[in-house]
Amino acid sequence: MFKVLITEHIHEEGLKELYEAPNIEAILRLNMSQEELCDAVKDIDALITRSGTAVDKKLLEAGKKLKVVARVGVGVDNIDLGAASKRGIIVLNSPTGNTLAATELTMGMIFSIARKIPQANNSLLSGEWKREKFLGTQLYGKTLLIVGLGRIGSSVATRAKALGMEIFCYDPYINPKKAENLGVKRLDDLRGALSLADFVTLHVPLTHETRNIINEETLKSIKRGAYLINCARGGIVDEGACAKALKEDRLAGAAFDVHVVEPAKESPLFDPALIEKVVVTPHIGANTREAQRAVAEIVVKNLIKALSG
Ligand code: NAD
Repeated sequence: MFKVLITEHIHEEGLKELYEAPNIEAILRLNMSQEELCDAVKDIDALITRSGTAVDKKLLEAGKKLKVVARVGVGVDNIDLGAASKRGIIVLNSPTGNTLAATELTMGMIFSIARKIPQANNSLLSGEWKREKFLGTQLYGKTLLIVGLGRIGSSVATRAKALGMEIFCYDPYINPKKAENLGVKRLDDLRGALSLADFVTLHVPLTHETRNIINEETLKSIKRGAYLINCARGGIVDEGACAKALKEDRLAGAAFDVHVVEPAKESPLFDPALIEKVVVTPHIGANTREAQRAVAEIVVKNLIKALSG
């Protein structure tokens, strides 16, 4: 019998196959401290987590029987991959399950900041009727820079193209044919690309290369009055530098689903002075019923395969 520990809330139906597997005992324990986790993992064969569990070296070492760490979703930046690989622990994720959900939130964020929809909603509900306050920006004919033309970046490109936007990408790692096939112009210099874009949307993983890729320096190159959207990972933008650029009107707006510290209680972007220019959501990019089910199903299928050898 394999013991599988689930440490975060995961779509019930997506876990059905796990609960029904005859050779698996699934144990659900939420909200554990790191200390409790290290204790709970001692006789566990596999862990199922999302982004809120720090699967660090200490935890991996405590899990003497650990064979698999399964991350429901895409980003594995909460897992110490080096330590896992040293101990021969397989790390699984489900990168394809939430592509559409993250894409659709990104499109929603683009519309939201271009037309100030959340601000207009709040204004109307507070008793105002100020149409002139909500002068928006048309998307048709505008330039969109996609940083990271992977699954989500490509899927955003297709949709933005349908809106009549002109699309560039900055992604040194893709095959140039990919951009060409999507009708996206590939630019090799990030600063040059930033200077051309009316909208910049980020779709890179968090790595040592992408941490703070949008910072005080790179923001100096951004086209005046551009909009910045981050539905990828908090650490890829220096939030303080972004808030400064918004206050100085170098950026016209910013929409962030992800934050440097999560759960995010404070951020330079939450400054009341920026309320008319900023749209923020609590990391809901993958939160659709369809995506939650899909990411769990994919991970469970692969986890069962991995445990069964
Ligand atoms: P992906 O791996 O398909 O695409 C990432 C792309 O980034 C690749 O094309 C890669 O070449 C490119 N890239 C890597 N390093 C780069 C660099 N230094 N400069 C430019 N490009 C670089 O991943 P994906 O499925 O498209 O997801 C992208 C990110 O979105 C994920 O890593 C995850 O962090 C985030 N995400 C967030 C949510 C959410 O809830 N908000 C949901 C899903 C994914």
